[in-house]
Amino acid sequence: MDNKQEILSELQRLYPDVGPALQYRTPYELLVAVILSAQCTDERVNKVTEVLFREHGTPQKMLSLSQEELEQYIYSCGFYRNKAAHILSASKDILVRFGGEVPASREELETLAGVGRKTANVVYAVAFHGNAIAVDTHVFRVANRLGLARGKTPLEVEKGLMAVIPEQDWSKAHHWLIWHGRKVCHSQRPACDVCTLAPHCPFFAETKGRSPEGDGKEKIT
Ligand code: SF4
Repeated sequence: MDNKQEILSELQRLYPDVGPALQYRTPYELLVAVILSAQCTDERVNKVTEVLFREHGTPQKMLSLSQEELEQYIYSCGFYRNKAAHILSASKDILVRFGGEVPASREELETLAGVGRKTANVVYAVAFHGNAIAVDTHVFRVANRLGLARGKTPLEVEKGLMAVIPEQDWSKAHHWLIWHGRKVCHSQRPACDVCTLAPHCPFFAETKGRSPEGDGKEKIT
């Protein structure tokens, strides 16, 4: 087994049943939650959506809110002006162009106003059980450090991961890397001393776990 396959096997052993931490009941609620999760913790998003979705869990009901009213709901998630604008634009698009249903293809998801490639990949993989690797800040950092896929942009890393991971595992691997980034391979102080991937990790071999300057600060939407 080569080094990358050893890493993938270990990630699968470490995180056999992990899934999204965002709470949602429908593809639309997941889409809104993913938009809110940019630069925000899933715990915070879940608190906000628990209240927001009580009355506004469909595109029609969301559009009954003005931009300012929606901002009040989501203020604590940060970047609330942009996020409110994106949620309202996407909701209008879903209503006008897709009859009120979130489209189930990755390509159509990406055409929604305010929805980027990462968000489209998450919704496609999680809500519709499609095969996709969404590259968020954790996936970007951990994939680069482990040498699973090296790249300067999320798209480069996504393509690199797709090349080394079997297609049926793309969605699961996205969650493995996110959870490893959250629990062990932190941006500023990776816990290399307790990481079972250290024997396979080029970053560890190079740095012995020194905190990287500026690493993991990339902005991904
Ligand atoms: S050894 Fe350190 S840098 Fe490598 S994956 Fe583990 S925590 Fe991250």
